[in-house]
Amino acid sequence: METPKTGAPTVVVAGAGLAGFCAAIAARDAGARVILLEKGGPEDVGGNAAFSAGLFLFPYAGASDLLSITGDFEEGLEADSIEAPAYTQAEYGAELMSMSNGEADADLVDALAARSLDTMRWLTTKGMNFTFGRSLGPEVRDGVLHVPPGQCLQTTGNGLSRGYEMFAPLIEYAETHGIEVRWSTPLTQIHRTDGHITSVVAGGHKIRCDALVVATGGFQADAELRREHLGPAMAEAVLRGTRHSTGDGILAALTAGADRSGAWGRCHSAAVDVTMPSPRRSDDDPPAPLHGFWLGVLVNRTGQRFVDEGPGPWVKHYSKMGKAILGQPGSDAYEVFDQRAASRVANEFAGAAVPLTADTLEDLAHQMGVPVAEFVATIERFNGACRPSPVIAEAATTDGVEPPKSRWAAPIDEPPFVAYHARPGVTFTFGGVRIDADGHALDHTRTPVPGLYAAGEATGGLFYGDYPGGAALMRAAVFGRTAGASAAAEAAHCPPDAPQTH
Ligand SMILES: Cc1cc2nc3c(=O)[nH]c(=O)nc-3n(C[C@H](O)[C@H](O)[C@H](O)COP(=O)(O)OP(=O)(O)OC[C@H]3O[C@@H](n4cnc5c(N)ncnc54)[C@H](O)[C@@H]3O)c2cc1C
Repeated sequence: METPKTGAPTVVVAGAGLAGFCAAIAARDAGARVILLEKGGPEDVGGNAAFSAGLFLFPYAGASDLLSITGDFEEGLEADSIEAPAYTQAEYGAELMSMSNGEADADLVDALAARSLDTMRWLTTKGMNFTFGRSLGPEVRDGVLHVPPGQCLQTTGNGLSRGYEMFAPLIEYAETHGIEVRWSTPLTQIHRTDGHITSVVAGGHKIRCDALVVATGGFQADAELRREHLGPAMAEAVLRGTRHSTGDGILAALTAGADRSGAWGRCHSAAVDVTMPSPRRSDDDPPAPLHGFWLGVLVNRTGQRFVDEGPGPWVKHYSKMGKAILGQPGSDAYEVFDQRAASRVANEFAGAAVPLTADTLEDLAHQMGVPVAEFVATIERFNGACRPSPVIAEAATTDGVEPPKSRWAAPIDEPPFVAYHARPGVTFTFGGVRIDADGHALDHTRTPVPGLYAAGEATGGLFYGDYPGGAALMRAAVFGRTAGASAAAEAAHCPPDAPQTH
């Protein structure tokens, strides 16, 4: 069965995640007929974004920019006024560059920095809702909400994995604006005629098109590709998100002539709780990411600390913890807290994860299965390096212990003690299709492949060693939107009766 060619130029978008929905909506708004192909069923909508914390990082000039996106505040953050120092495009770009160790493509960095704020406003016109989230560090003092620079806004919903809720308005927009969504229809092949993309094969059928946007996510869900590119240890990592991002869309684009780019040997990883399985459906909870590490200490199987647990705000550093755990014996670790932090960790960061609890450090060590004497000595050494304090203050550092804890250092001495068992989880891969700032897929000579676009995790070139939390959803939205608009513009210039030879 072949899809008939209609009068309107046709843009096919593969992948119903955030990048795919943004591409489909932008192409439709630009007048194209749009077919959105999704490998999974409706229960899989949203790809990785459905499991995400819904954090979006973008530059802003001050409180009025933030308030132009939302006036919604999580409990405890309502205030008479807001103090929000600017987080400029230059700072955003510099942060992306420094977290990629200078390897990121400067054109992509500049485009993301320049288009993010406008794209946040655009998302709200498509029905998405944002809020000032509590877990990221804003605080009300003397009736003023203080928002630290480089702050994310968060999609509305409950808990950390609230991204699922962003898709109801996007689906409604697609349905009411004539975007044809085809579930259980994976893209498998891409065909070119005289160099230009003319059709794809999806779900066993050929579909004609004038332009294609590949938004099929990374390759993190394929254990063999993980082993090949990231090494044997990451092949065993717990998958944090969608099981459908197996890299097939990326490989189809490469076969069709696109070049690869980015850090194929690196990925985003976060420590996750071992008691929770990888998600199956989009409304499942992903394994809890244990972002509360900064409120306690991490110890390995030998009972030793091995990393600075307080390098800075968790949202900028959590992926380092997954990588640090990966390097430990057995590739696992325990996150240990006392009563100063236990309830905050349980309420804000641990989701449905089940901790071990004990009245003494010795009993906790027994339950963890780590050498008792070493573990107790580690905690005593750490406690001796902290200043006594009933609270966990950001400015508090350790003195005379290795590794240091640079912030939020407080003794672990108020029982009962709790420990969460953590393993590295894989969030998404960093290598993919090479694109330019218009979302056009480039070949190995850096020339656009006519009619071929890509966006989101399916692309490389932006994230390398690490990335600032909130920039991945922002990338999906900005480049999805850009690719969809560019694809529609190119499709509009295709001759209506171009030969269809495949
Ligand atoms: C647990 C978790 C928490 C996160 N939290 C945040 C956060 O708070 N902030 C942030 O910035 N980032 C976060 N991220 C990362 C962010 O969610 C992703 O980078 C982003 O959603 C990627 O969007 P995407 O559209 O490119 O890919 P995806 O969302 O993965 O979408 C890809 C879609 O393509 C489909 N697909 C795959 N292959 C095919 C095919 N062959 N044909 C058709 N369809 C196909 C998949 O089923 C999927 O629906 C998080 C990720 C995870 C896993």
